[in-house]
Amino acid sequence: RQSSCDGGGGHMAEIRSVGVVGGGQMGSGIAQLAAVNGLEVWLHDSDPTALSKAHQSISSTIQSLVSKGRLTKVLFVPVLADPLDFLTDNFLTKEKGAEAVRMLKYTSSLEDFGSVDIVIEAIVESEEVKKKLFTLLDSIVKESAILASNTSSISITRLASATSRPTQVIGMHFMNPPPIMKLVEIIRGANTSEDTFNATKCLAERLGKKIVCSQDFSGFIINRILMPMINEAFHALYTGVATKEDIDAGMKLGTNHPMGPLELADHIGLDVCLSIMKVLHAGLGDSKYAPCPLLVQYVDAGRLGRKKELDDIEAM
Ligand code: NAD
Repeated sequence: RQSSCDGGGGHMAEIRSVGVVGGGQMGSGIAQLAAVNGLEVWLHDSDPTALSKAHQSISSTIQSLVSKGRLTKVLFVPVLADPLDFLTDNFLTKEKGAEAVRMLKYTSSLEDFGSVDIVIEAIVESEEVKKKLFTLLDSIVKESAILASNTSSISITRLASATSRPTQVIGMHFMNPPPIMKLVEIIRGANTSEDTFNATKCLAERLGKKIVCSQDFSGFIINRILMPMINEAFHALYTGVATKEDIDAGMKLGTNHPMGPLELADHIGLDVCLSIMKVLHAGLGDSKYAPCPLLVQYVDAGRLGRKKELDDIEAM
């Protein structure tokens, strides 16, 4: 089978402006990353409180990066990342920081997305909600604009089917936290064009990321492998195999993972993990992907992990 990374030689539209939908932990990180890399950015969230939280958090992060002379904030040593990368080059000067703040606009109206070259959607992991958004975006953005989804697991082909431009719909899956993690997983839907793929690849590279490409099957590469491991860690806890401390320490020290699976779930958000397991279960049709009852119960109880509070680990 042809690698999904093989680009064609088609015309590549240069992306200069980005609309980000969803100002939660992923969307705010993506918006910040794009702005410090010189792109014009619009950030929208349907929840005014979330939008103003994103505004405050991005502004204070950029300010702290300028004062520390770093391009990215080192929140924790992430999976696959070399911490030295963040301490050597890529300084964020005062001028560049001020420019990034100027380049980033916050809006409560999607109508402001009329002139952006690409929209990166980072809202709740629900196919129904994302499809509604894609239909709406399709009616607002210019004809040449690309609609990208940061979905962890949902079919790009089905999201594309909610628009009149399936050739311009693509998966652009950032890792958490987007300013720090080196990877973007690109997912081509069944109808994604080479131009769309090439423009998205160029954007990811401009943001300093390496890319991997996946075919459009539930969970793609990363979450197809990562989430069953996290789900299994919940099963180990649920069935009393070990304590949460020993499960995490075992995987950290025993397999050289920088973070244990339960701690990682805590960072990702237990609600996001559960949504992804449900997509894997429904999309791949195998009972091995059924979400662990303990994971379901935590989410039912509103215990979602620490999500944004990355500096203050809470026991689950
Ligand atoms: P989050 O809950 O932190 O943020 C989601 C934001 O979207 C919220 O602020 C919410 O108000 C907003 N929102 C919801 N519906 C909206 C709508 N219709 N229009 C506008 N805004 C809306 O979630 P997150 O962790 O940032 O995840 C967002 C997406 O990124 C999901 O698809 C998730 O699967 C994916 N993702 C998450 C991670 C992770 O580690 N959390 C990693 C990679 C990808």
